[in-house]
Amino acid sequence: MSLQKKMFAELESKEIFELARSYAYAYMDGIEDMDVFPSKKNLDKMKAFDEPIPEKSTNAVDVLNQLNNFGSPATIAQIGGRYFGFVNGGALPVSIGVKWLSDVWDQNGGLFLTSPINAKLESVCQNWLKEIFSLPEETVAGFVSGTSMANLCGLLAARFHLLKNLNWDINEEGLNGAPKLRIIAHAQVHASIKKTLSILGYGKNNIEWIPSDSKGRLSLEHLPELDNSCLVLLQAGNVNSGAFDNFDKVCDRANAVGAWTHIDGAFGLWAAAANSLKHLTKGIEKASSWAVDGHKTLNTPYDSGIILCKHPDALISSLQATGEYLIFSEQRDPLFYTPELSKRARAIELWATIKYLGREGIDTLVSSLHLRAKQLAKGLEEIGFQIVNDPVFSQVLVATDNDEETKQILAFLQNSGECWLGSSSWQGKTVMRVSICSWATTEEDINRTVRLFGTAKRTIAANT
Ligand SMILES: *Cc1c(COP(=O)(O)O)cnc(C)c1O
Repeated sequence: MSLQKKMFAELESKEIFELARSYAYAYMDGIEDMDVFPSKKNLDKMKAFDEPIPEKSTNAVDVLNQLNNFGSPATIAQIGGRYFGFVNGGALPVSIGVKWLSDVWDQNGGLFLTSPINAKLESVCQNWLKEIFSLPEETVAGFVSGTSMANLCGLLAARFHLLKNLNWDINEEGLNGAPKLRIIAHAQVHASIKKTLSILGYGKNNIEWIPSDSKGRLSLEHLPELDNSCLVLLQAGNVNSGAFDNFDKVCDRANAVGAWTHIDGAFGLWAAAANSLKHLTKGIEKASSWAVDGHKTLNTPYDSGIILCKHPDALISSLQATGEYLIFSEQRDPLFYTPELSKRARAIELWATIKYLGREGIDTLVSSLHLRAKQLAKGLEEIGFQIVNDPVFSQVLVATDNDEETKQILAFLQNSGECWLGSSSWQGKTVMRVSICSWATTEEDINRTVRLFGTAKRTIAANT
């Protein structure tokens, strides 16, 4: 049989899809019992993938079986309720379902002409997101792979706009000889901002670093005098403490002189969608650009990030490197708002998630993450752990009296298979960082996690 015939036969029989579906169902149903982080034995099984490239086309079912047998056990139980590492987020059932369907569509989301439905749903999501975050009417959105990419887009737009105001067209003249921009960031901005600044050619020593306060927010008293060459980097949700900068005051000062303010709100911007938490985001609408993830707090599948920008002209010009708008169609052409040309039609899952949850559901989702964080903080404090941050959102930083003990407890928890969390350092102390970001985390998951911390503490104490 020719290769093409074989593939048509695979399409026709559906065996590969039926099998994939049954493996996926077994995975979902087994999530409670699997190790949250794979055991050493299961990690070792990945050796099955160390093989030479096959000479001939193989059997599709064998390929899928290999992945299921040796790949599935080497996954993180991200869709369960006790993965607290980094800030990852789960995935709503509806978002996985629509992703399956749209995977079959295999759309190229770059243009209206390559995917009318993606272009349409991008427009819908743009309007909905503007409403959810109460952003200015002129705001446009670009749908990218995550907040790292969204930060890059925001900073590119900022650079274009600020230089233009200083009579410098960066698309024509480039960076060499350009007027100097003043970039103002506080010590606790996310690593992705530091990386972006470096990618853009601003070395560490060219940033005006200002201190963060004890909660990890920009220290307002250290904000220098601003002018129209300034880019001020703000944060909604410190990745360690969860703290929010004072957008209201900083944006007022920036707007008075024509400076640009960018808010990295990867997981925290969603606080604006919950009545009980939106005080944290007071003043965000006064900023110039915002970066936010779908795949963290909102629990869409990977990968989903959004750049929102109040200056459509700056965003589009900086990403197209052309003064003119090429018109590909009368409709929205997604590629104007992102660095890529071809791209995943990721607005589909974002649309489905927002449509499914509605305003009330988003509020419930976001505020539950916070309630679980508070529950955990209280439970751990009651059994003698220190909570070193003020858990204003979804992050809880846990410590003990000494760093060595903290590290041993963390290792115990990470090897337990019952939960997983990472470490960080906070004001010179080693801390365990618990990030509550999945819809699937229940009160019982938190109780079980607290009990596990207790067991870890006793076990380590008994061994020393
Ligand atoms: C996760 C995160 C980022 C990076 O986002 P990605 O979606 O991982 O690219 C940036 N800033 C903050 C505050 C984050 O939490």
